[in-house]
Amino acid sequence: MKDRQQIVIVEDDVDIGKLLKLELEDAGFAVTHCDSGIRGLSAIREQNPDLVVLDLGLPDLGGAEIARRLRQTSEIPIIILTAADDVATKVEMLNSGADDYLAKPFHTEELLARIGVQLRHRSTGLVQTIGALTLDAARRQIFWEEQEVRLSPREFDLLVYLCHQPGRVYSRQEIEKNVWGEDLPPSSNVVDVHIANIRGKLRDAGGFGLIRTVRGVGYAIKS
Ligand code: CA
Repeated sequence: MKDRQQIVIVEDDVDIGKLLKLELEDAGFAVTHCDSGIRGLSAIREQNPDLVVLDLGLPDLGGAEIARRLRQTSEIPIIILTAADDVATKVEMLNSGADDYLAKPFHTEELLARIGVQLRHRSTGLVQTIGALTLDAARRQIFWEEQEVRLSPREFDLLVYLCHQPGRVYSRQEIEKNVWGEDLPPSSNVVDVHIANIRGKLRDAGGFGLIRTVRGVGYAIKS
């Protein structure tokens, strides 16, 4: 196993490229900076990095074109940097197969956060995102934005169950059967108590309004 994750940055502005390289190296990545699209594409093909950061505006091959070519053969996470923040540019980037984009100017912390999200998504096929919520079933981890939310095993199972189908209302009885494995006494408020605990923990991480109460029926994840 590689000890450091590899990132290739393709950015023709050499000052920005060098600065990003230093900052990402500082964050623990092994980084290659290329100053043209052609050089970037061949470096990516040679090194097979864990993630690529592409500038949209390059003099030879633009970031969207590189993303399109990479997507023909690879599922590598791609983040595009762009000076434009308009709808047409966003659509072009998403159509090119990029996973995310960041409008310049941005803080390095923001790029690092996006990189972290993409790398986590690829670490397992069992990652689900609903708005700001990320569920990593294989690692049994939950994040709100970038912050981990520590749930008890039962709370985790309950939230995962509700997230199977965002928007669908799950009755208390369904929840009991599928999360607790049994019908609880009718007077039991154990589901409601667990929901309250999950909400409290999400709130501590800045997450509000994820779980909707459907009075007299049960709960749903807001879709
Ligand atoms: Ca540029």
